Amino acid sequence: PKHNLAKFLVNTAGRFPRNPALYFMGKTISYEELLDASYRFANALKGLGIRKGDRVAIMLPNTPHTVIAFYGTLLAGAVAVQTNPLYMEGELRHQLIDSGAKVIVTLDLLLPRIKKVLPSTFLEHVIIGSIKDYLPVPKKWLYGAKQWKDGTNAAKHRDVPFLLFPELLSSSSNAPIIEIVDAEEDNAILQYTGGTTGVAKGVMLTHYNLTANTLQNSHWCYDAEDGKEIFLGAIPCFHVFGLTVLMSQSVLKGGMLILIPKFEIKQILQTVDKLKPTIFPGAPTMYIALINQPDLAQYDLSSIRVCVSGSAPLPLEVQERFEELTGGKLIEGYGLTEAAPVTHANNIWGKRKIGSIGIPFPDTEARVVDSATGTEVPTGEIGELIVRGPQVMKGYWNRPDETAMVLRDGWLYTGDMAIQDEDGFFSIVDRKKDMIIASGYNIYPREIEEVLFEHPYIKDAAAAGVPDKYRGETVKAFIVLKDDAPKVTAEELEAWCRERLAAYKVPRKFEFRESLPKTIIGKVLRRQLLEEEKQKQQ
Ligand code: ATP
Repeated sequence: PKHNLAKFLVNTAGRFPRNPALYFMGKTISYEELLDASYRFANALKGLGIRKGDRVAIMLPNTPHTVIAFYGTLLAGAVAVQTNPLYMEGELRHQLIDSGAKVIVTLDLLLPRIKKVLPSTFLEHVIIGSIKDYLPVPKKWLYGAKQWKDGTNAAKHRDVPFLLFPELLSSSSNAPIIEIVDAEEDNAILQYTGGTTGVAKGVMLTHYNLTANTLQNSHWCYDAEDGKEIFLGAIPCFHVFGLTVLMSQSVLKGGMLILIPKFEIKQILQTVDKLKPTIFPGAPTMYIALINQPDLAQYDLSSIRVCVSGSAPLPLEVQERFEELTGGKLIEGYGLTEAAPVTHANNIWGKRKIGSIGIPFPDTEARVVDSATGTEVPTGEIGELIVRGPQVMKGYWNRPDETAMVLRDGWLYTGDMAIQDEDGFFSIVDRKKDMIIASGYNIYPREIEEVLFEHPYIKDAAAAGVPDKYRGETVKAFIVLKDDAPKVTAEELEAWCRERLAAYKVPRKFEFRESLPKTIIGKVLRRQLLEEEKQKQQ
């Protein structure tokens, strides 16, 4: 099929030209304006010599530049290399070299890092925007670019051959352009993953993968009304979860996307209170932060109708409390970068099972198998989750061997251990690699974490296996107490666990911390916890 993912934007701009597409720090940008800017960006890329299939790195937090650069890149037939703006030098260099990106789009404040890696990459052009581009200022400033000549951070870095984002737009044609792509063959993005466990690999997601997953999510998780919804954009669009479940969703439905560059709980609450968003996709940490906010009652959260939580397990307590507080539905889904990303979710219209990731999307198959043989295990038994469907990646960029390890006969081996119940609902037990083996028993950290989350004074918790002379590994719990909690001792927590868990699963060690190390999307960085532990032992 010939379909460019950017067609969603073209269609929506045709249907709702004057509707607000983006909201950023008090300023709105209509669909007409967004499409106009995206065409300009696409034509600018063509002018810079970018051809179909060339890679364009986008290293931006949630600002209007992100959306314009993303759709502009796709309209030009180029491949967006989604780049985390928090990447440090080493990670950034690896991703730029590995992807072979010729252009990078970024913000002035990130330039110092880009300058350091520039000489060792294939970059030919650096396009720089600034938060100032989209502050609520008279429109002529937007494309006028006069105030840019000096006085910006970018101006301090004249040694980098850069182009300014607003100037590039204003000097390019807005003639409609949409590169015809083979949806199943041509990559729309390279999304790097695996950085938390080893060397990051580029996941090739085609136009078809992302189109399919946008439609699947829309149909299964949202009850969005065309041209009416307001999406709270707290998760980053440079992550595939934010791309599919937030940005692409809002564009498909003609919604208004509130762009929030940095998750800050007070700002989120004020935004909800003032702008009345209806849809709020997020990660469990965000919902945890929200329900634990002491002055929550001051804010009106009743506009929130549906939230989709993914990327990490959603503790039961959190889901129940959140639904009570907002009156909205908090739907748990599951996915991974290699599947663009969602494969399972609880259906918004149908039966939901708290603590389960729901059932596979229509036209997505899922099985629980023995990892070694690939044969299905009986219902109710633990095995590795494998999935097959239109959202499953083509493979890892330039890594056929690693692709062959996870893609077998069209099935994606997820590396997650799961159980399917008699109703066909799936639950994630834990990641295969996070399993703790203590005295020969298999222990999954998540089960312990659920018990800890039930404790009235615990705000956040993680369990991990630490080396132990006698047992091989032993369970250690890392605890963050609620701000207003009285002092709790390790002995008390151990007793709490002992009442609720089999003896071999009870943590033998507890560590109280201010916070847990997390990824940008809010996943606990277990590897970092374990590395810190190792250093302490030495
Ligand atoms: P990185 O790329 O930084 O190494 P990652 O390995 O977590 O991160 P992602 O593709 O971002 O890669 O995340 C996918 C993983 O997130 C899944 O394999 C699963 O372990 C976890 N996950 C996602 N949703 C859920 C959920 N609802 N419950 C439990 N785990 C989940």
